[in-house]
Amino acid sequence: SKLSLATLASLPKSVGTPSYERQDLRAGIVHFGVGNFHRAHQAVYLDDLFNAGLGLDWALVGAGVLPSDEAMRSVLAAQDNLTTVVEQDADVSSARITGAMIDYLKPGDAESIVSKLADPAIRIASLTITEGGYFIDPASGTFNPAHPDIAADGAAPDKPRTVFGLLVAGLKRRRAEGIPPFTVMSCDNIPHNGVVTKNAVVGLAQISDPELAAWIAAEVAFPNGMVDRITPATGAREKTIAKEEFGIDDQWPVFCESFKQWVLEDNFPAGRPPLEKVGVQFVPDVSPYEHMKIRILNGGHAVIAYPAGLMDIHFVHEAMENELVAAFLRKIETEEIIPIVPPVPDTDLADYFALIERRFANPKIGDTVRRLCLDGSNRQPKFILPSTADRLKQGLPVPGLALESALWCRYCYGTTESGKTIEPNDPSWDRLQKAAKTAREDPMAWLAMEDIFGEVGRSEVFRKAFATALDALWKDGTEAVLRRYLAGDL
Ligand code: NAD
Repeated sequence: SKLSLATLASLPKSVGTPSYERQDLRAGIVHFGVGNFHRAHQAVYLDDLFNAGLGLDWALVGAGVLPSDEAMRSVLAAQDNLTTVVEQDADVSSARITGAMIDYLKPGDAESIVSKLADPAIRIASLTITEGGYFIDPASGTFNPAHPDIAADGAAPDKPRTVFGLLVAGLKRRRAEGIPPFTVMSCDNIPHNGVVTKNAVVGLAQISDPELAAWIAAEVAFPNGMVDRITPATGAREKTIAKEEFGIDDQWPVFCESFKQWVLEDNFPAGRPPLEKVGVQFVPDVSPYEHMKIRILNGGHAVIAYPAGLMDIHFVHEAMENELVAAFLRKIETEEIIPIVPPVPDTDLADYFALIERRFANPKIGDTVRRLCLDGSNRQPKFILPSTADRLKQGLPVPGLALESALWCRYCYGTTESGKTIEPNDPSWDRLQKAAKTAREDPMAWLAMEDIFGEVGRSEVFRKAFATALDALWKDGTEAVLRRYLAGDL
């Protein structure tokens, strides 16, 4: 029978279910971007907390702005907002049902979302809206108030359509009603995600109401956080496994690895759930952790993504089984990325990377190379180019990082080494493909995407290394070029 509160008791005994009663939960958090990652991470930590009988007034209310969110909202509504989370490691798999979300507002329904945000019971608004959701100008890394969606919300603050417009409207109503503001907590993979979110909220408020903007800047907390748990998208494979291996009829289960990590700055003036009881690390400064995670893990994902994509490799663990790809990852991490990551408290970076190699190689999780290749235009400037820029500033060579950029360019040409078409895999695919085609003859056409490459694209050292790598990729192919790089001959 279909997953619901009424059928929980009839699930196989091996499936974990909430030990709390739904009616004992009270809403405390509005979350924007109820995607797979949120359901595998924040919602799981909260479910752990509620299972321990703690923080029952911190339940989640889902929210979103994209019409495409309606698909998940209606699936979840039909199953009482319960979610199956399957944790998979090489040797163990387990399934549990989480129940931390008690409502999911209609996507884009500004009035109901703003009313909920103005509810004094809501003390946190959290976000997983992807790297591309923050209206950041990639090259400068700063908020872009001229973006048409932001300009529209700035011009009509009472009819907000972006997440930031909704947050500003919610904060404005709270201020007018004398209710203390909620804390805004980003859980996206963005360096200094709290600062970035603050710049977006304050920057948008500035357009219509500078006084409100000043109040937000002074009164609202935006803690930075580092989040980690590899969470692939859900497909037919996952639904079948949920049903056949675990006996759960869930229309949108989430699969993930068993590893999870969350490091947060303890800056929640409106209060917070006692997440330290369920493994969240609270630290005074999250930057060393996010620096490590974004550059070594997310950067590492980007490193394996494009050569694997070009060689028609489907799953991430298959990429790790390919000795060239695995060796490429190891060499670039140990020679170019890790040496410039500043030390992290209580962490050995070599151990951290060794664990990542094992996590990427996990054969059960079913993460796809295509998911890692997605959205390079938003991800490269956050995951790869900062390492490149730092090395160039220190006068250090960048042959591996330049090759990574060239592999991304070669991928955006839109065909794999065997000649298969690569379907569009970036919001800016048309632009990228056009540039990649021109770059086949003129590599500098790729680096001319100033908004992506910024100063890195102007560096003579980088331009030379990039052109060499891209020319070699076109002349000899991905495999041969990886071999040359591994032999120290690029
Ligand atoms: P997903 O596709 O399952 O969900 C994405 C969510 O973001 C959806 O709810 C969507 O509506 C929302 N969204 C997308 N663009 C938006 C926009 N412009 N404005 C508002 N909302 C928008 O993806 P996911 O796997 O849940 O990943 C989401 C984000 O979570 C990632 O981009 C990353 O920052 C973070 N994250 C993911 C993982 C992972 O392994 N999947 C790991 C760590 C962090």
